Amino acid sequence: MAARFDVERFPRVSLGHGPTPLEEMPRLAAHLGGPPLLVKRDDCTGLALGGNKVRKLEYLLAEARADGADTVITVGGVQSNHARQTAAAAARIGLRCELVLPRMVERYDALYEENGNVLLDRLLGAGVHVVQDAEAATAKVLELGAAAEAAGGKAAFLPAGGSTATGALGYVRAAIELTEQCESRGLAPSRIVLAASTGGTQAGLVSGLAALESAIRVLGIAVYDTPEATAQRVRDLADATSGRLGRSRVAGDRIDVRGGYLGDGYGIPTEGMREALDLAARLEGLLLDPVYSGKAMAGLVDLARSGSLGGRNDAPVVFLHTGGTPALFAYGS
Ligand SMILES: *Cc1c(COP(=O)(O)O)cnc(C)c1O
Repeated sequence: MAARFDVERFPRVSLGHGPTPLEEMPRLAAHLGGPPLLVKRDDCTGLALGGNKVRKLEYLLAEARADGADTVITVGGVQSNHARQTAAAAARIGLRCELVLPRMVERYDALYEENGNVLLDRLLGAGVHVVQDAEAATAKVLELGAAAEAAGGKAAFLPAGGSTATGALGYVRAAIELTEQCESRGLAPSRIVLAASTGGTQAGLVSGLAALESAIRVLGIAVYDTPEATAQRVRDLADATSGRLGRSRVAGDRIDVRGGYLGDGYGIPTEGMREALDLAARLEGLLLDPVYSGKAMAGLVDLARSGSLGGRNDAPVVFLHTGGTPALFAYGS
């Protein structure tokens, strides 16, 4: 595939297990009465409980290392999965890691601030800096960068979610992997459904599928803010990513983000999320997370029930499980 050649020329450190499994969800599909359902298990990327950021970090840390960095600094909510995966990736290749975690969700209890991802961040040896807001986070990032330089080192800064054109290359590669899996099994899915927040995962998939001239469409479920704002981030990142691949801008109809499943805000539980977690667990033995994959699955459940994804004789739909399950332990209440 020409697209494989496009992405394989960028430096990458191998961090994840792959190809991740592509599994059927027959009991969930029968229960919902919609199309056949598959799940692409990117919660099983392997590194320190896995998740979608591992694929992005393979390219981001290759770039940081090539730039001579000895420290990586990144930001995310207190229960950030991206922060935990960055801490693990940095440990794996011998870089120091500093995590700046603004309080993006109104929770101050011990479960939220000490369990789940935060517990793992500390275990993985990262510096953990919980700060009040985005402004304080910026100041902290600058301070930590200056400290790294004063110590004779160099810091690489990774933005929230690892969503740059470099990070998105991980999901260009994932698009190729998934396409090959589908082809070898004679599957022709109509859509991939996933949680969209900073947008790099969706942008990488869209850019990769466009480069492959694939008929598979990508449907993002907004779990961080409005679908319009999310779609704009996906658009911008897809343009930057396609540019790096030396390809033209992806067609506008490939960028599709739906709203309606966020509820009161990022990280705040919804009824639909609770139902989706229960259905996936009880019908498929599949664990979702409360912030991302649970709300994305709430979207898939709703769309499958309403018939808008087709019926049981139609093309299958792939749910991309982006990980996040360690956050379950911070959301016990
Ligand atoms: C970061 C994350 C996402 C969102 O990915 P983006 O590339 O930021 O849109 C989805 N699910 C989980 C579990 C995540 O940690």
